[in-house]
Amino acid sequence: MQKIRVRAHAKINLYLDVIGKREDGYHNLETIFHSIGLHDDVIICKQATKDITVHCEHPKVPCDSRNLAYRAAQLLSDTVGGIGGIAIDIHKRIPVAAGLAGGSANAAAVLHGVNELFDLDFTQETLMRFGAQLGADVPFCLYGGAALGLGIGDQLTLLPALGDVPLLLLNLGIEISTAAAFKKLNFSLTTREKEGIIIETYIKKGDVVGIGKNLYNLLEVPVFSEYPEIAALKTELSMQAGCYGALMSGSGATLFAVMQDSDAADRSESHFKNRVSFCTTAVTSPVGVFVY
Ligand code: ATP
Repeated sequence: MQKIRVRAHAKINLYLDVIGKREDGYHNLETIFHSIGLHDDVIICKQATKDITVHCEHPKVPCDSRNLAYRAAQLLSDTVGGIGGIAIDIHKRIPVAAGLAGGSANAAAVLHGVNELFDLDFTQETLMRFGAQLGADVPFCLYGGAALGLGIGDQLTLLPALGDVPLLLLNLGIEISTAAAFKKLNFSLTTREKEGIIIETYIKKGDVVGIGKNLYNLLEVPVFSEYPEIAALKTELSMQAGCYGALMSGSGATLFAVMQDSDAADRSESHFKNRVSFCTTAVTSPVGVFVY
């Protein structure tokens, strides 16, 4: 085999709470991830030279060693003492720096794809450990479906994936760095007691109305205070016919709505599409990476 094609799926956070700040500067989270159908295509080829190369047309995506996909290939290659040349071609559909883990998804696709293409035989567990070295969201992107994430989001517990729940995604084109969103939270170096996450019970039951009503993301507080236009867009999204609930994903600024059915999602897409820089319907996905 000379080439492998991998779909790298975006994620949303149905729930995100920050439990406290750690000594290492990271934050401990309690979050629920879900993969969604929106994906980048990552095509990985063996190449005759020994180099790792990345090609991506998106102007905001670096093609050198700053690219998470590049770093994933480098990590695997270094671990086994070199595997030869790897050419990575990324077709971007996931908005960049948008809270949808696009870079992490690309890294997960490369870990999975390079492992298969070069017959490296790393287990899923080992790949997830490599993923955690690259970024907090990479282990989930490899895992896919639905999961509760603790620690920096890398300690995962499987949850039942929701089947094809219709979503609408909106982004005003405001890029938010994850570090900047966290920086505005005021935490002491302590942890606090939690009462359990209500939305988890609705996810386990597959109760989409309950999920829509119990969406939560603490990072909306710092982001909405800096960008009131995102808060206003969320209010408008929440009021759409057939919207069970809306939320900002991750550190933003993409908003998503859990919709009653695909017709309601399509109608809302028409309502917003000419006013925002990114607007698409999607459904929840049971996978994070998928070889096709
Ligand atoms: P997260 O929710 O994990 O913080 P995000 O969706 O907010 O991620 P990304 O799309 O991963 O953000 O982009 C964050 C930064 O990473 C961008 O500024 C971009 O330049 C850089 N980056 C590195 N590699 C990639 C990649 N393969 N795809 C997209 N961005 C990448």
